[in-house]
Amino acid sequence: MSKINQILGDIASKKSTAVQITQSYLDRIAKHNPILNAYSEVYTDRALQRAAAVDAGTLTGPLAGVPIAIKDNLCTTYGKTTCSSKILENFEAPYMATAVQKLEDAGAIILGKTILDEFAMGSSTENSAFGPSKNPWDTSCVPGGSSGGSAVAQAAELAAVTFGSDTGGSIRQPAAYCGVVGLKPTYGRVSRWGLVAFASSLDQIGPFTSNVEDAAIVMDIICGHDEKDSTSAPNLKPDFASKLNDGVKGLKIGIAKQYMSDNNNPAITKALNQAIEIYKNAGAEIVEVELPHTEYGIPTYYVVATAEASSNLARYDGIRYGKRATGADDLIDLYSRSRAEGFGEEVQRRIMLGTYVLSSGYYDAYYLRALKVRRLIKNDFDAVFADQCDVILCPTTTDPAFKFGQNTGDPLAMYMNDIYTVTANLAGIPGISLPAGFAEIDGKQLPIGLQLLGPHFEEAKLLQIAQTYQANTTYHTQTPELN
Ligand code: GLN
Repeated sequence: MSKINQILGDIASKKSTAVQITQSYLDRIAKHNPILNAYSEVYTDRALQRAAAVDAGTLTGPLAGVPIAIKDNLCTTYGKTTCSSKILENFEAPYMATAVQKLEDAGAIILGKTILDEFAMGSSTENSAFGPSKNPWDTSCVPGGSSGGSAVAQAAELAAVTFGSDTGGSIRQPAAYCGVVGLKPTYGRVSRWGLVAFASSLDQIGPFTSNVEDAAIVMDIICGHDEKDSTSAPNLKPDFASKLNDGVKGLKIGIAKQYMSDNNNPAITKALNQAIEIYKNAGAEIVEVELPHTEYGIPTYYVVATAEASSNLARYDGIRYGKRATGADDLIDLYSRSRAEGFGEEVQRRIMLGTYVLSSGYYDAYYLRALKVRRLIKNDFDAVFADQCDVILCPTTTDPAFKFGQNTGDPLAMYMNDIYTVTANLAGIPGISLPAGFAEIDGKQLPIGLQLLGPHFEEAKLLQIAQTYQANTTYHTQTPELN
């Protein structure tokens, strides 16, 4: 059952007031956030005021009274926008992110901001300057990243819906690790205005939800052209929810052997095979497809993303934004001290790598070559979607969540987490991760996720196919036991 519709129904039927609902989420946050560290900031007074306005009938809209949390790289004119970085520790944004403004215009109650890997660079939230978020299924495990706080808040029911950003998997990977639905829309589907830039040609905003229906509902609200983001797509008047229950009869689901590695955790392979059976029984045709350039996804992504990051993060110079170091001898010294003190290790690593691949003498060998391989990866997807299949079914990750500290000493091992997610960003296509069961690790049940990838601007079809899986499974209804 849609959580959003349940909340709207409870308010409409006067079973609960919006204030009561908001308060119950705030109570859960007060109780569980000290351990889970999902939120970096909670807007208690503002949330309750808006909820009271919903009850008074002065705040209306399709999400009136629905409590939502947003990743702390989305700008709001209230509170702070820190990107979980020391360099923006006290930054107050002068404007609202378009997606957040659309949520508020629809009557949503923003409860607070959630923890991320600094500037969305990472796969575990261990790069957060304000401590990592913890996986509610096993607090000795990471929640994934970079939108880990939003995934945790969603899984632990500390908000009805949460939002993240996905540059190379940052919505889908933590969704898989925390057992919730996570959707990365087509590049350009949602305005990036007010999303603090990491890699501008890859970044997209998207939701974490408890079910597919809620993802469709919020996509209807946040999508659309925005004159403030020239890469936002024209309004195509999508209706993400209308085909949800149309089933999969006659549709073709592609399985690419490049995603079916023997290195995948056996529980993930089993979940994939189960999903294939579910789709066959529901009338879909399963076809084998080839995505031959998949293996170049990680190196290509880490050249393109770091190159763009090194350029985007040049603005944090200690003069215009955020932290300014003291004791500098001259201007250059001020820049370097502010950046050395303000940025964490991983962000510094990426700025150095990105600067290197863009530098003269190396530009052609690395950056330009990466752009060419990026095109080959996009061509792979275009070719299979042209006449072979409607969507691709694959794992979201190779394994369930890992332990804190397990990958921190080895950046490459950390980067390998994104092996099945970065290709969608490089190609610009939409992807969704769905709760697909559990793997038992050290006596604990850890969630695993399956991913569906679709053609550009075909989110409605993606959600329709996702809905069929969800209608035949109960994994999305399971929630972690919190102490
Ligand atoms: N984990 C990937 C990275 O570290 C993806 C991050 C993201 O999607 N924001 O870059």
